[in-house]
This record gives sequence, structure tokens and C-alpha cells, in this order.
Amino acid sequence: MFIGDTIAAISTARGKGGVALLRISGPDAISICQKVFSPKSGKKLSEYASRTAIFGSIYAPDDRGEWNEIDNGLATVFSAPASFTGEDTVEICCHGGILLTQTVLTACLAAGARAAEAGEFTRRAFLNGKMGLSAAEALGDLLEAQTREQLTLAHAGTDGRVERKCREIYDSLCAVLSSVYAKIDYPDEDLAEMSREEMQDALEDSIKRIEKLLDTYRTGHAIAEGIPTVICGKPNVGKSSLYNCIIGRDAAIVTDVEGTTRDVLCEVAALGRVTLRLFDTAGLHETEDVVEKIGIDRARKALEDAELILAVFDGSTAPDEEDRALAESFSGTDATVIAVINKSDLGIVQEEFYTSHFAHTVTLSAKEGRGTESLSALVESCFINGELDTKNDTVLTNARQKGAALSALEAIKRAQEGLDYGLPVELCCSDCEAAMQAIAELDGRAVSEDIVSHIFSHFCVGK
Ligand code: GDP
Repeated sequence: MFIGDTIAAISTARGKGGVALLRISGPDAISICQKVFSPKSGKKLSEYASRTAIFGSIYAPDDRGEWNEIDNGLATVFSAPASFTGEDTVEICCHGGILLTQTVLTACLAAGARAAEAGEFTRRAFLNGKMGLSAAEALGDLLEAQTREQLTLAHAGTDGRVERKCREIYDSLCAVLSSVYAKIDYPDEDLAEMSREEMQDALEDSIKRIEKLLDTYRTGHAIAEGIPTVICGKPNVGKSSLYNCIIGRDAAIVTDVEGTTRDVLCEVAALGRVTLRLFDTAGLHETEDVVEKIGIDRARKALEDAELILAVFDGSTAPDEEDRALAESFSGTDATVIAVINKSDLGIVQEEFYTSHFAHTVTLSAKEGRGTESLSALVESCFINGELDTKNDTVLTNARQKGAALSALEAIKRAQEGLDYGLPVELCCSDCEAAMQAIAELDGRAVSEDIVSHIFSHFCVGK
């Protein structure tokens, strides 16, 4: 990708609509647009003030290369750096016909623009310093949002709040580092800004700030990325019924024939404020059926990766050995396990079996859809920190951010230990630098090209 060229794309969704929007961005955006768009006023596009919507004619070349008027519309010029990308940008608003929009784009390309790649406008905004990486990720989340909670969280993140917190921590570490260097370079002079105690305080303060950020991840992840969730249990206890109940439609086959669910289904579903990445699995029972065996192996893998396990039981019958074995199988897991005591419409027997084996239980009828509110309230209480205000607080929402924050935390703790043990101050330099590097990765100032490409490849063309 060459940042000095000018790119164009259709920014609205493909398909027939009232209007469509095309974006041109780069150093030649205005001159390219002038070939495609002519203001009705007779003035040139370049004569208008930035951010003015101008009515005019839109032209495109035909098969013989002759440019003809094909539509009327609006063009809005955004002069650099006051644009989304930070470059000269023109947005053309034309009527939303499928062929028409494509023809206007072809005209922009014929006039000298290059077709933009997926996410390239946002990538340019990031590279031109218009937004940090976490803000760009939040923008991607905003486009993908499927729940109101995701919308709120994603919109909040687009204002660059993660980046601001990172900068505070980075600056504080930078002050520690420069004091350490001053002590090393001029040991006999008192040039360091901070005493050893002040350095320790600054490191402690950074640790607290990062821990506070990390504490938000469980909630942010539960809303934005979704909790990997496995529904498991014996055959016929109502796993598929629960799955369908949560996602709100019949995706899994429900029968009273054992072993109906042979593969692992996965779907993203909202449950109250959280998002579940829900796996409905074949039960974890012994079988000679080859196909069913594959399903069960996949179920085991999904179970290993799960952060939430919904262990379903048929509460209308007394728990048997298989139920006991299942209940006891979760003892070593890090996942949150909820016993779902199903078939409440038939009456529940031996409820104490579940309460004695599980920290969390819920009684419901998947068939009648009764009791699912209790399930969502329980899951929320396990994953959402009620004190966190997702609209106003800074929240980490994805594994990349968490990983970088953890690396920063570990490095600062090493630096702190070095100071605590009275080791020479220079030993704390490399740890401070490692922490600053991790913080710079978190806000995107020093992130690898591969990660940047990976993030922007998930955007659509035109964004
Ligand atoms: P799975 O094998 O665990 O996935 O179980 P299914 O969801 O396929 O359900 C097995 C049988 O139990 C079906 O006949 C369902 O209609 C029935 N069933 C599931 N949930 C309930 C419930 O809450 N109440 C009653 N009465 N029957 C249920």
C-alpha cells in the first residue's frame, strides 16, 4: 500500500437504495473529483470552502471513453487535515442505484483514483494520527454491533479513551526512565527528576492504573467479543431446546431420539447485556457411532476453550450416576459453570443435588421458555461488573488489548521488584522500556504491521 496515492470506494452498502455515498481520499482527491463532478454554480470544486455540500452533475465515461452526465448529486470537500482520513477527501452522494453507484466509482478510477482495499480509509486515519488503534477497533466493533450494549461500548471507544489512558501511563513511565538515565549518566550530580521513592510511587501508580484497566476486560469481552459458552449434558435433557431458546429460533434439531445433535453448532446470541458465542454440542457420552464420536471430540475441545459452561440436567428425574459424574467433572475448570435445571414444567426433584454441586444454579423450562430471565440475570452477575459504566468508563474490549496490558503490567512489576530489592537503578531501565513498548502496542503507536493489517482486513471496503 502506498499512502501517497488517492483511493476511492463506495462507502454505503451494496444494493439499491435512495442514496449512496462514495469516498475519495488522498492528495489528488479534489482534482480527481473535478473530472467526475461539476458544480451547477459553474464554480470549480476547489473554490469552495471545506465541509460545504455542493450540488452538481456527475459524469462517467461510456464504452467509447466519452464522458456523459449520468446523475445529479452532492459533493462535500474535506480539506486535509480536517477529514476522517486526515487527507484531502471528497464524498460524493449520488442516487443509490446499483449500476449507477458502480459507474460513478468506475469514473473515479478512470479519473486517476485507485480502488480502496478493505478498511483502507480507517487505516489511513490511523496512520495519519487521526485515531489510535483501539479507537479504530471500536469503530470496527460499531459496524459489527448486534446488540444495543455493544453499540454503547463501541461508540464510547471511538473517542480514543483507551489511548488517553495509555498516554498517561506511558508519560509516567517515561519520567521514571529519564530519571533513571540521569542517575546513570550523571551519578554525581542531582539531575534526576525523581528520587528512588518517587520512582517507586510512579511505578505503583502505573500498576494500579493498568490493573484497573485489566479489571474492565471481563465485562468488555463479555459484551464486545462474546463469552465462549458450551451447553453440555446427557442426551435428551434439553440442550438443543435451551440453545434454541437462547438464540430465539429453532436452529438446533429437537427430538427425543438420543444423539440427535451430532456436530457442534455455534451462534452468537445476546443474553441480557452479554453476548454469548454459544456452542451446542453432542453430549459427552460414550458411543460407538463414528460420526457421533467426532461430534463428541469437538465438544470436548469447545469445552476446554469455554469461559461459560451451561450444564443442563433434566430436573424432573432423579439425578443418576451420569449426572453425578458430569457435576463432578467441572471441579478443575476455570470456566464459570452454571447448572441449568431444566424441565421445571414437569416439577423438579432433588434440587439439593444441584445446589450442593454447583455455585450457580438456575431452574427453567426450555420447552416453554420460562425462566430464561433468571439465566440471563445470573450470567450478567457473573460477567458484568455492575460498577462499570460502559458509556463513560474506559473499557478494554478485546484480547489484543488485554495481552498488551498484561505484558506492560508484568514488565512494570519486574521494574518495581528491582527497585524494592535495592538493585542498581539501571536494571529497571529495560523493564521500564519493555512496559512502555507494551503500552505503545496497546494504543497502537508501536504495533507490528501484521497486527495492523489483521485488524483492518476485518473492515469492509469503503470504511
Ligand atoms: P438434547 O438431546 O439434550 O439436546 O435435548 P432436546 O432439546 O432435543 O430435548 C429432548 C426432549 O426433551 C424433547 O422431546 C424436548 O421437547 C424435551 N424437552 C426439552 N426441554 C424441555 C422442558 O423444559 N420441558 C419438557 N417438558 N420437555 C422438554
